[in-house]
Amino acid sequence: MKTLRQEFLAHVGQTSPEPLLIEVQRAEGVYYYTPEGKRYYDLVSGVSVNNVGHANPQVTAAVQRQTADYMHIMVYGEMVERPQVQYATKIAGLLPEPLDSVYFVNSGSEAVEGALKLAKRHTGRHKMMSMHCAYHGSNHGSLSMMASPEGDTWKAPFQPLLPDVEYLWFNSIDDLSRIDGQTACVLVEPVQGEAGVRLPEEGYLQALRQRCDETGTMLIFDEIQTGMGRTGSLFAMQKYGVTPDIVCLAKAFGGGMPLGAFVAAKQVMDSLQRNPVLGHITTFGGHPVCCAAGLAALDYILDNRLVDQVERKGLHYENALKDAPNVLEIRRSGLLMAVELGTSDKLFQIMALFKEHGIMSDWFLFCDTAFRISPPLTISDEEIDDSCQIILNCLNLLTE
Ligand code: PMP
Repeated sequence: MKTLRQEFLAHVGQTSPEPLLIEVQRAEGVYYYTPEGKRYYDLVSGVSVNNVGHANPQVTAAVQRQTADYMHIMVYGEMVERPQVQYATKIAGLLPEPLDSVYFVNSGSEAVEGALKLAKRHTGRHKMMSMHCAYHGSNHGSLSMMASPEGDTWKAPFQPLLPDVEYLWFNSIDDLSRIDGQTACVLVEPVQGEAGVRLPEEGYLQALRQRCDETGTMLIFDEIQTGMGRTGSLFAMQKYGVTPDIVCLAKAFGGGMPLGAFVAAKQVMDSLQRNPVLGHITTFGGHPVCCAAGLAALDYILDNRLVDQVERKGLHYENALKDAPNVLEIRRSGLLMAVELGTSDKLFQIMALFKEHGIMSDWFLFCDTAFRISPPLTISDEEIDDSCQIILNCLNLLTE
């Protein structure tokens, strides 16, 4: 008989020649457990998803309640489904004005897709811009907006992608003059995640906002990774003091369930109602169980004032690791952190050590010299100390 791992390799579609192959039996709080009883610290949160910890009782109760009431009813946007309405209303009340209309989708990539379509539809323009080293997703639309430092390797086999897409350098004020009256939108992560946590320089996002205002271009923030408290504000737009025309949400937005959204002013969003009608269609977008989970997770974040603790916890990690052997730099926004080791060889070594010693970390798509620390926001001070001790032990074992 084949083992579960062998069946995984044989029958579950593979996109990586070397998957982690850790079997998970259950997950709780900041830990995963394997069937053999080995415990891992989840310092990735499923890539910025599990902000309220695994098996959060408030979220699992909401999911159970909603599955008992109803699951899928009808394609998106026709029926009045309570979890959807409650979640949209809550998000609209927490985002700055005029962002008050929430279009629910299934994933981050689809949120980006919807935002791009909305920007084209609303402006009547087709030229679009994004940033070098940005990651926005893997479908044809979002992949078109990606410009990796390795050139076209990620995109070449999938061409042709969207035409009329141009790339700016994040933090380059000079590049902003390339945004003009033909540009429908500029899509940007307020903190570049997969680039290895690259922070916006003082005044950059403000200058980008101003240039978009001057040219009638829609500014789209991809807060798929930075949203829901990760950077120390509920949304990074609040931390950096710039409001976009459209914001994309996903990952932690679903509280562990697949859910995304693009949010705009109602008067902007309403352009998807006409010419053509049904400007974006989704069957499962805003699934009632996912909305119930997302809303419960958001309530948990707010009720427990988790966002207020993020900066302190991030600093705790930074202080514990910044002078450690082999650490060159720590780049951080709240609890979104990259620990720079300087070489991919050291990174591969540390990944193997982490796996052995019970730490789940990851590298970044466009930065294979740094490892990621983005634990659930619920992590305790004792858990931070303990996980740092394991990380320090591993850092001490690295060879040149
Ligand atoms: N944008 C950003 C900033 C992301 O980090 C990701 C996922 N890593 C996406 C978009 C795509 O989200 P999804 O995988 O849900 O399509």
